[in-house]
Amino acid sequence: MTILILMGPPGSGKGTQAKVLAGRLGVPTISTGDIFRASVAGGTELGRKAQQYIDAGEYVPDELTNAMVRERLAEDDTRSGFLLDGYPRTLDQVAVLDELLAAQDRRLDAVVELEVDPEELVQRLLRRAELEHRSDDTEEIIRRRLQVYTEQTLPLIEVYAERGLVIPVDGAGEMHDVSQRILQLAESLLHRDR
Ligand code: AMP
Repeated sequence: MTILILMGPPGSGKGTQAKVLAGRLGVPTISTGDIFRASVAGGTELGRKAQQYIDAGEYVPDELTNAMVRERLAEDDTRSGFLLDGYPRTLDQVAVLDELLAAQDRRLDAVVELEVDPEELVQRLLRRAELEHRSDDTEEIIRRRLQVYTEQTLPLIEVYAERGLVIPVDGAGEMHDVSQRILQLAESLLHRDR
């Protein structure tokens, strides 16, 4: 069983690489950003509550986010493991995840950190904004999202590093090359499991 977190700043290619990694490992990806966006698109109550934060580049309050993840992790497909993409993002979320895993007598295997130079991130995000027209991809919001990441999420790396769980991966350059590094990592994780 493999339980992983994929961490990386906005624009690091986290969503794409999460799918590559989870696909190779044969576990579902749980992307809180995707779930929020689907809730907004579907006009659900969660979506209505989350939208203002997402559009402003702010984090959705922990209470809402944690409740959503709690429900998601109770689903059957997570039994053989899962990969979290975009969660946890705050210290409060780390505490809740610890509690959820402990209650199920499971533990985290690793935290994969995608490392990308901040300058490269802004350029990539602006390019994506043109292609995808996401409501949170204007330059001002992009800068805000990077700031929020630095302030609230970067400290989590330290927490997990102290537990010896962090595996850094170079996220620079072409998406395809990053995927190759991610697949190499997947092989070593599969080996480790045996
Ligand atoms: P992402 O696609 O992972 O960049 O997420 C898009 C947006 O969804 C973020 O900018 C936040 O507004 C919200 N979001 C996603 N995951 C979380 C989380 N773990 N905690 C709070 N807000 C989140």
